[in-house]
Amino acid sequence: MPASLALAALLAGTALEDAPKPRPALAERFAAQVSLSSAASPAERALYDEAVRLMLKGETGRALGERLLAAGVSVAVSFSDLEDKGGMAGFDAGAARVTLSRSVLSWKPASGSLRAAEVLAHELLGHVLSHAEAEAAGAGWEANALLSDEVNAYVVGWLVSLEAGWRFLDTGAETLLADRAAFERELHWKQPHYGALLEDGELADPLGALRARRADPRAVGGFVDSLSERLKFLESRPDVLASLVRRRSSPAGAAFAAELAARIERLRLLAPPLPGLQSLQPDGA
Ligand SMILES: [Zn+2]
Repeated sequence: MPASLALAALLAGTALEDAPKPRPALAERFAAQVSLSSAASPAERALYDEAVRLMLKGETGRALGERLLAAGVSVAVSFSDLEDKGGMAGFDAGAARVTLSRSVLSWKPASGSLRAAEVLAHELLGHVLSHAEAEAAGAGWEANALLSDEVNAYVVGWLVSLEAGWRFLDTGAETLLADRAAFERELHWKQPHYGALLEDGELADPLGALRARRADPRAVGGFVDSLSERLKFLESRPDVLASLVRRRSSPAGAAFAAELAARIERLRLLAPPLPGLQSLQPDGA
């Protein structure tokens, strides 16, 4: 209703029954869709609440938080004793699970909550969101097989923590900003699951790329298992392999690549100067 009509209705004493109700705040709508397990301890709940608040504070977290809600996915979050990672995400039809490592509970509260916000953003606004959006576009499995999905999740986490007040640049972010290809090559050997992910440039020949990685001297133990499992699956599913190859030139693939590139440029803008350069800054800068 135009303002003049609303005023006329008010002056006439008419109830404005058709006036739209104000939209609940993002945090309130977020809590209705993303919930922490009731088994969480009071300390875990306090950390989670603060992490969510910090995550939704900055521009990146707010924009992606709105997209997560718009995607309609519901998420169950819980804490666990994860050994070698800060968090993980899993998917069932229409629902997602995010697990956070309890290790961050031992951090000093101020930095611990920023770290938890980063990990939560990585899993939730990185992996869960991209999975939900790719699935809606009919390409859920493919998106999860891509290294760019992992790179995106890292960038989202770093952006969220920098926007929330974290003042340090992760060493991985340093490498990414200096040489993205080098960061991606390193990422493959960070954990077995990453070993089986495909770089965009490897999508022309996924099987060849995975076989070459399995033949690399660094491919031992869990890396061999992960690579062999992915190869076996793709060899048995020519349909999935074909859709993976098509992903490179698909509109969804191109849109994701462009969005990630823009996000990396934002990270470059927000990145604090490296410690060696900080002493060169004039006082008060
Ligand atoms: Zn990840």
